[in-house]
Amino acid sequence: GPAPESDKEARAWIAALGGETKLFIGGQWRKAKSGESFETASPATGEVLVKIAQAGPADVDAAVKAAAKAQPGWAALSGHQRARYLYALARLIQRHSRLFAVLEALDNGKPIRETRDIDIPLVARHFYHHAGWAQLIDTELAGREALGVCGQIIPWNFPLLMLSWKIAPAIALGNTVVLKPAEYTSLTALLFAEMCQKAGLPEGVVNIVTGDGATGEQIVNHPGIAKIAFTGSTDVGRKIREATAGTGKSLTLELGGKSPFIVFDDADLDAAVEGVVDAIWFNQGQVCCAGSRLLVQESIHNRFVSKLTARMETLRVGDPLDKAIDIGAIVHPVQLARIRELVDAGVKEGAELHQPKAGLPAKGCFYPPTLLTNVHPASTVSRVEIFGPVLVATTFRTPAEAVELANNTEYGLAASVWSETLSLALDIAPKLKCGVVWVNGTNMFDAGVGFGGYKESGFGREGGREGLAAYSKPKWIAKAKPITDK
Ligand code: NAD
Repeated sequence: GPAPESDKEARAWIAALGGETKLFIGGQWRKAKSGESFETASPATGEVLVKIAQAGPADVDAAVKAAAKAQPGWAALSGHQRARYLYALARLIQRHSRLFAVLEALDNGKPIRETRDIDIPLVARHFYHHAGWAQLIDTELAGREALGVCGQIIPWNFPLLMLSWKIAPAIALGNTVVLKPAEYTSLTALLFAEMCQKAGLPEGVVNIVTGDGATGEQIVNHPGIAKIAFTGSTDVGRKIREATAGTGKSLTLELGGKSPFIVFDDADLDAAVEGVVDAIWFNQGQVCCAGSRLLVQESIHNRFVSKLTARMETLRVGDPLDKAIDIGAIVHPVQLARIRELVDAGVKEGAELHQPKAGLPAKGCFYPPTLLTNVHPASTVSRVEIFGPVLVATTFRTPAEAVELANNTEYGLAASVWSETLSLALDIAPKLKCGVVWVNGTNMFDAGVGFGGYKESGFGREGGREGLAAYSKPKWIAKAKPITDK
């Protein structure tokens, strides 16, 4: 196969950090006041890459103050002027896309093919898209004003992509931000801060503070913050909802999922098998909208499962920098242990386990593509988000039963429907309680369309007009009589 992607440039970038990262506050690189730090490792090897600064209350306060100082001037620019910075950021991300892609693969464990062809291009697109919106703001979004300082907290599964979903719409509309990346994956956010400097973004418009959940709580509770945008687990989302209740802060939550992947007996089964590969083995299944529940019509269950298990044998698990692999490393040993526990629980509850015969790399945080069949809809693995490369299968007989099973979850992020009968797919789609339904496809994203959930998958949308609305408030300035300047 092809030679592994070179990590030379990424290694040099990490080495230049000097052993410990700094925080990006008010356009300056600052040490964390506490002097505390934690290690970030490459999950594919366990190798420690660098120490990450742990921001504490004094640092969060400094970041919020820097953002507050910058905000009026940033909002006073015309949309056209702000657009120039977003275009510059998009171009810089493209120019440094290889470094971003390798760094993300090293820090997160996801395959270079995915970071190179999916994550980083989508990030650039998100900035281009919102640069376009910034240009239209004065006409299309007249009468709306920025919220102020936005606190943004993101997960580790798509580190730079989730950063772009947060920062691009916020700054396009004249807000300034304090963003905290997830503790396992801070590196590409710090490289992004360098791009902000290169783009000449005014100081304090974007502030990056690294740290763990405690740092996140400090952002959530800071009185200078106007809005919290959170992507992460439903449990933490619930805590943030409680913490912000009654504070006047705006809030959007993008939380967990347990999305159904529904295969009818007239589906193109080979296409549906490839759909499954994308739905649950893309990014090691660490995808909020992963099609993690396979609902398959009883009459084709055995045929579909044998096609699927045959395809599983051909998936290659290994070094994320190897361009030929399909599945990389799980982000962290803690997550790996959680996946193992849940699969064990599934087997104990009576599910049948299918895993490929090929072994895994000798060391590193790897888990094989996994299918559990004969899974009862009430069992733990049917209900709990596993957030790993594990698909659970249940059968249904009628379309009505498929809908009932699909909606039998506390989540509601996405659904995928496979059938060659378009009228059937389009009859099912509106009955599914979720934010997006993919017909004969999966994982289709568009910066122009709002993404988000029903029920405990959260509220608010990111992307599209709704995403912009979530970073601004309407204001009507009513005049009682004509005003003449004296
Ligand atoms: P997590 O909730 O553990 O952590 C997310 C972020 O919140 C991290 O930056 C973390 O440091 C921070 N945090 C932790 N405790 C906090 C607290 N008490 N207050 C404030 N911040 C706190 O989630 P995770 O394990 O990083 O990510 C996985 C979860 O994210 C999954 O449930 C997944 O479905 C969800 N997710 C959702 C979407 C979406 O768009 N709906 C996208 C990606 C991931």
